Amino acid sequence: MKPLTVCAPLRVEARALRRGLRAASIPDTQVRVVRTGYGPARAAASAASIAASARGAGSQPGLAEPGPGMLAVGGVGGALSADLRVGDMVVASRVSDGSVTVECPSAPLLAGELRRAGLRVTTGPIATVDRLVRQGEQATLAATGAIAVDMESAPLLAAAAGGPAVVVRAISDTPAHPIISPRTVSGGIAALRSLRQAAPVLARWAAAVGPRQVLLASPRSFCAGVERAIEIVELALEQHGSPVYVRKQIVHNATVVADLERAGAIFVDELSEVPEGANVVFSAHGVSPEVRAEAERRNLATVDATCPLVAKVHAEARRFAADGYLVALIGHAGHEEVEGTLGEAPAAMALVESVADVARLRPADSGKVAYLMQTTLAADEASSIVNAIGDRFPAATGPGSDDICYATTNRQRAVRAIAAESDLVLVAGSANSSNSQRLVETAERAGTKAYLVDGAEDIQLSWLAGVSTVGIAAGASAPPAIVGQIVTALGGLGEVQTKDVVVATESVQFGLPKELRQRSGN
Ligand code: SF4
Repeated sequence: MKPLTVCAPLRVEARALRRGLRAASIPDTQVRVVRTGYGPARAAASAASIAASARGAGSQPGLAEPGPGMLAVGGVGGALSADLRVGDMVVASRVSDGSVTVECPSAPLLAGELRRAGLRVTTGPIATVDRLVRQGEQATLAATGAIAVDMESAPLLAAAAGGPAVVVRAISDTPAHPIISPRTVSGGIAALRSLRQAAPVLARWAAAVGPRQVLLASPRSFCAGVERAIEIVELALEQHGSPVYVRKQIVHNATVVADLERAGAIFVDELSEVPEGANVVFSAHGVSPEVRAEAERRNLATVDATCPLVAKVHAEARRFAADGYLVALIGHAGHEEVEGTLGEAPAAMALVESVADVARLRPADSGKVAYLMQTTLAADEASSIVNAIGDRFPAATGPGSDDICYATTNRQRAVRAIAAESDLVLVAGSANSSNSQRLVETAERAGTKAYLVDGAEDIQLSWLAGVSTVGIAAGASAPPAIVGQIVTALGGLGEVQTKDVVVATESVQFGLPKELRQRSGN
């Protein structure tokens, strides 16, 4: 493999990086640090020489190729954002000197890895300027969107010739603690310490570089129930203004929740946290009758975002319980959907999480046992429990139509299809998302390593080393944009060819609750 070239403008920066590499026993043949000189003119000259050397290498036996198209820039830099502190790392999402702008799409991958290495990291644009920034000039540069500034990165990136490249700058000065002279690195000790710590991470980034095929599981991301639930909160905010309270996470996804919080939604765990008379939305996972009764007692204006397919399971629970059945609910303890469904008929229901739990069922009449399921279960796992119930209670009866919903079933089929052809499967989704977790398990059962990630920053670079085909799936609560961000980030490591693997098409849509429909005119 070609070595990674790390450009360090100053001697102290090069020394810090080399020390970090030595401490991690990373040899020169894997990462070589090149001192490129202070300021844009020297940076441009160094970039030209690195590029020329890269073009010439390879034809000279015995000489290590300096790695055209795989380049890192590492050094100290000045903060433009007030949120940055001395010693923080900035990973450039793009670098611009005003005339040339270079994108660094793999920035989230490197940022996540640096964070896991214990550094405080921010990703954002870096501005390259041709002289030291004077007091008061930071605001003008910050207005361009840049969060940090340096004097070399833009010209140095020319040496990458459009190939994979990253820029990391350890903050040595901030608007509150300005630099005094080019040779005085104020806050330099903290910055150089961070740079040293970052050096081995650059080697991990280089090991993950390479062209890839990306297989996209389809269907993926939002289902009709999740789209409806998000729309309900947005419409409630539009119609009632902020705040609108939401009991529990509207859907189990950190990005969705953060976006709605920014729009004015307040997420609470219990109705006791909601002021008397306020507007409150029940999440897509459903609530028990007890919660509805409490809302009524507290005079809350409620809108129900329970997915109609969850509401269907609630109705089945009520029907079976009213007919005198013991209802075995196959699902996972503690999940909000399970709690809501069990709450429909607590005295007549029992949670069954495994085949072993079936032996513990104690029906008053063994001829009157029914089973229902959490909507987001893995189909193969649930069917073994259904078989065990049938073996023990031959007269057991189930729901009229499958409780595991169409979206769960389709996404599991899709992940199975990509897992068969992938070296690695990444599932976009949050850790508390049941259907996303089941996708990881489904891929693993198909024999492929799989990981759940909330976004590109969660992807560990070691997962990608030596991997040429990556499958990407997304849970029903994961925004489609996350998949796009992951593909873009992988594209920052080398050429990516994407292929959609379609196992089904979906056209399901659910109507809005009538209280919102009337006001919105839909
Ligand atoms: S995963 Fe299924 S049950 Fe859950 S919200 Fe989506 S459509 Fe409804």
